[in-house]
Amino acid sequence: MSCAERSDVPEEKLKSVLDVLDERPIVDSALLQLLQWAAGYYHHPIGEVVASALPTALRTGASTQASEECWRITSAGEQACARGEPSRAPKQRQLLQELRTGPRATHELRERLGESWRAAARPLSVRGWIESALVSARDVPDIPSAPQPGPPLNDEQQAAADAIQSGLGRFGAFVLQGVTGSGKTEVYLRAAQRALAEGRTALVLVPEIGLTPQLVGRFRERLAAPMAVLHSGLTEREQLVAWREAFSGRARVVLGTRSAVFAPVSNLGIIIVDEEHDASYKQHDGGFRYSARDLAVMRARGADVPIVLGSATPAIETLHNLESGRYSRLRLTRRATRAAPPRLSLIDLRAHAQSGGLSTPAVQAMAEHLAAGAQVLVFLNRRGYAPTLLCTACGWIAPCAECDARLTVHLAARALRCHHCGADAPLPRRCPQCGFAVKPVGQGTERVEETLTRIFPGVPVVRLDRDVIRRPGELERAMHRIASGEGRIVIGTQMVTKGHDFPNVTLVVVLNADQGLFSADFRAPERLAQTIVQVAGRSGRGERPGEVLVQTEFPEHPLLTGLLAEGYEGFARTALAERRAAAWPPFSRLAAVRGSARTAEAALAFLTEARALAEGAHGVHLLGPVPAAMAKRAGRHHAQLLIESRERGGLHRFLEAWLPRVQSLPSARRVRWALDVDPIELF
Ligand code: ADP
Ligand code: ZN
Ligand code: ZN
Repeated sequence: MSCAERSDVPEEKLKSVLDVLDERPIVDSALLQLLQWAAGYYHHPIGEVVASALPTALRTGASTQASEECWRITSAGEQACARGEPSRAPKQRQLLQELRTGPRATHELRERLGESWRAAARPLSVRGWIESALVSARDVPDIPSAPQPGPPLNDEQQAAADAIQSGLGRFGAFVLQGVTGSGKTEVYLRAAQRALAEGRTALVLVPEIGLTPQLVGRFRERLAAPMAVLHSGLTEREQLVAWREAFSGRARVVLGTRSAVFAPVSNLGIIIVDEEHDASYKQHDGGFRYSARDLAVMRARGADVPIVLGSATPAIETLHNLESGRYSRLRLTRRATRAAPPRLSLIDLRAHAQSGGLSTPAVQAMAEHLAAGAQVLVFLNRRGYAPTLLCTACGWIAPCAECDARLTVHLAARALRCHHCGADAPLPRRCPQCGFAVKPVGQGTERVEETLTRIFPGVPVVRLDRDVIRRPGELERAMHRIASGEGRIVIGTQMVTKGHDFPNVTLVVVLNADQGLFSADFRAPERLAQTIVQVAGRSGRGERPGEVLVQTEFPEHPLLTGLLAEGYEGFARTALAERRAAAWPPFSRLAAVRGSARTAEAALAFLTEARALAEGAHGVHLLGPVPAAMAKRAGRHHAQLLIESRERGGLHRFLEAWLPRVQSLPSARRVRWALDVDPIELF
């Protein structure tokens, strides 16, 4: 972590340095400072924090530089060669002569002498005539093609790009709040170009690379600069290669998901966080739980560079930072392509007949849009065929043995699956309790696909969910079927809401908005509003105006009516006022201790003892412990204790004093537990 001349640690406890692994620190001082800050803020051991910032291969001994095996001739070999040895082995002699002209990398030897050179090298090296060493691989700079020009920016885009440009060289947080399709990416590209032109590097964070291949392509084509792409779908080896590209300074653009916030970018010029509201920026399992968006802001502050937080639906926290003047707002109010904003309306599910989850007005609208030659997108946040398998005779419902959850019917796979623990069982034909026939109840994307095929015979349907899209290549194929116009109806989960640009989609149908309306989690309305606005943004991006239909049983719900009347901003105003009144974040600070054990008693007992240790603490409120809404998951019982404070300092002073005592509780060893600072999901 640092070098010291002197130490207070007793001499006999100090260890010797065995080896200096890296001439240049693999974590530079700015990044180290960020990691130290994160370890303090998230109350997590610095060793694990540093480890999570490095590729696995590096932690298990790989070098920071690419290296290759290189062969050369020894002086004994020179002499032997001069004597004309080895006289009866032409291949060996050829190799010796080749190396006499200079050292050769293995790939060069393979090219010149063919695969058999290895067989020839062995006896020569045994006799000490040739030797090999690992040397750092020569960089092969890829020659960037000429950057492709983008469209001329409109006034709002230009103003945003200018503001960011004039902010280069010092810290500043810009929120680029632009309706979907308003051309935020063009502004990112312009800002990154400027930073690159100043000889700096751009760090770009995106929620999920697999879902946004278009975005990566756009950065590649438009910036035409060496780029390193970092995400969790890479193999260890690929991760290492991408990390090295960034570390060596060769990559001028580093683009990646959550953990790329720790990428070894030197000479940083700008940070861009696309879809800053996205929940995937929060690491909320495993040991080290952090918010990549929040750390990105800290990183920009430390490096004294601007950060751009872009979204059509900024997080409530971000809006609060705007109100309080910590961040500055850049607005894009119009769609870049001059497309009109989509028209949003509600369909009262209580007032209309339904078939397979589709109301009559929705089906009519779909038929009209299809007849006009357009495409239709149907959104349902539930994969599988049906969420429930029911026996109509005795009322049995297929349960998961390991979770407080029902098993989902997957018809094509003839399986019952648990979406919480992954349990997988064959689909029964009869009720295991009474032997009567069972039937699937409710809708999943698989079933809606079947219904759509029945209602619109001959109209090609493309389904997008994790069951059909397992690899990035498959997503690209599906996208191509949609973009080419071959697929006329798209049915999908959350996957369809992300940044795609399908100009011919003019109707979006949200099958069920009601899941988020009555949740115990104070963030559920925010997530629902963001989802509706994001999926609505897929509609009418081209020439023809778009329409959005939201099916609900609660058309008078203030969240929905507010969203309809005033859009996301109207919703956000109400949400901020509610959070203020209830003193939820961002008007207070939260941390959660979550514990799980084989029995509910053990999990609760630990948290109860932890709470008892906090008796009399000042400036914090403890809420709970309570069992999780779905208490049993994968055979373990989950419970949670919330710690709430009016201000950040108070929360952290408390945690600092309290956590070591919690750690030393005997019951702490009988449960799995973790601390989550600024949790975004409560249960
Ligand atoms: P966002 O990121 O805000 O959703 P995009 O940057 O993807 O928006 O832009 C949406 C569409 O508008 C894209 O097809 C893009 O090429 C186009 N576009 C963006 N800016 C302009 C512009 N100034 N002139 C013309 N088309 C533009
Ligand atoms: Zn039964
Ligand atoms: Zn389960």
